[in-house]
Amino acid sequence: MSLFISQDSIEQSEQQKYRAITLNNFRKLPQLSNLSEKEKNAIDVVGRVLPFKTNNYVVNELIDWENIPNDPIFTLTFPQAEMLKEAHFAKIATLLEKNASAKEIQEKANEIRLTLNPHPAGQLEHNVPEINEVSLEGMQHKYKETVLFFPSNGQTCHAYCTFCFRWPQFVGMDDLKFAAKQTQELTTYVEQHSEVTDILVTGGDPLVMKTSRLQGYIDPILASTQNNVSTIRIGTKALGYWPYRFTTDDDAEDLLGLFKKITDSGRHLSIMAHFNHPAELSTPAVAEAIEKIQMTGAQIRTQSPLMRNINDKASVWSEMWRTQVQLGLIPYYMFVARDTGAKHFFEIPLVEAYEIFRTAYSKVSGLARTVRGPSMSADPGKVAITGTPEIRGQKVISLQFLQARNPDWVMKPFYATYDEQATWLDELRPAFGEERFFFEEN
Ligand SMILES: *Cc1c(COP(=O)(O)O)cnc(C)c1O
Ligand code: SF4
Repeated sequence: MSLFISQDSIEQSEQQKYRAITLNNFRKLPQLSNLSEKEKNAIDVVGRVLPFKTNNYVVNELIDWENIPNDPIFTLTFPQAEMLKEAHFAKIATLLEKNASAKEIQEKANEIRLTLNPHPAGQLEHNVPEINEVSLEGMQHKYKETVLFFPSNGQTCHAYCTFCFRWPQFVGMDDLKFAAKQTQELTTYVEQHSEVTDILVTGGDPLVMKTSRLQGYIDPILASTQNNVSTIRIGTKALGYWPYRFTTDDDAEDLLGLFKKITDSGRHLSIMAHFNHPAELSTPAVAEAIEKIQMTGAQIRTQSPLMRNINDKASVWSEMWRTQVQLGLIPYYMFVARDTGAKHFFEIPLVEAYEIFRTAYSKVSGLARTVRGPSMSADPGKVAITGTPEIRGQKVISLQFLQARNPDWVMKPFYATYDEQATWLDELRPAFGEERFFFEEN
């Protein structure tokens, strides 16, 4: 080892040491001198209701501080006044001004949170699997082939997205009851269900876990003598929020070793990477992390919701997909914003979402057209908007299931009355005078 460590490398390794930025310390950030007192105050107010956490990589490498408050990555992790409804904002602001007790602020925050539809589509209560009639917390089995697994130590992230639909768990509203502690149950369950070919480990972000913990979940699957699980997917935002997870973190090499172990077992490992904007693909750190992951034989697929004020332009998506293909990533899903949290700030009507998707899709080569969407993850399944045709004199919205509770529903076109305002499936009405959509019960 060299005795001479240059100042450069000290600075570099400082940079690669994870530091969370939260309500407690954000005012110390030198970059925030560009913000007005009012804007800083808004972070404080909104951050009492919705989760706020970012980190030194996001702040130093991703945000363009010349462009705040409009910078997309700033908007992605820093709360802004408009993310709360005016009346809600005023209530918290008043409490802070008069130095109300933490308890009083917390109570008011909880009251507001309950009005923000904390559990859209009953996501957490439905489709929980069972072994011998005991329900398995931390697992979800909705689509035949794929079991979702939420390890209890992976229920946080390296930074929080301001639009996150799992926000209730980050503000302590959900007591993580929907998180698995047992490693053996997952293996037992998939062994009993030979139709399951894919396990999707998700969160939060399972890659906030130490590698050794993640290994504890994966190893029993690899050791299983039953071979129905051919694919392991890991859903993560670490490439966007903390690429050092794969390069310089203490156990980065172990993590890559675990990836290699999965692919060496003959299974496919797919990293389901969450990228919201091309800026997240632009740093040397993310390029290096991508390369390291690819060397393990893993494939990286990408997904993101479409969000007003972050990525609501077709050019942003075509650039993002093009860059992803250039880096060897596979564009996979564009999602529609769910009805929760600060939805009013982020939402985009379905027909506009479709136009953005279509325009972006038309501008990229076929290799990027692996992407599907814009898709709503609704109770009956993943529903994509596929067009706004006029059929026999009636303007309609055409839709189809990409994924469905009932496999028989998949890829069958169906039609809703044209509606420029609708932002979610439950706001659409069947076209042609039908009483209900084909998948709805009588
Ligand atoms: C999206 C999703 C999956 C995976 O679906 P694919 O189309 O195979 O990517 C699995 N389970 C649930 C609940 C999902 O929402
Ligand atoms: S990375 Fe995913 S789970 Fe984490 S805050 Fe963002 S949207 Fe939520």
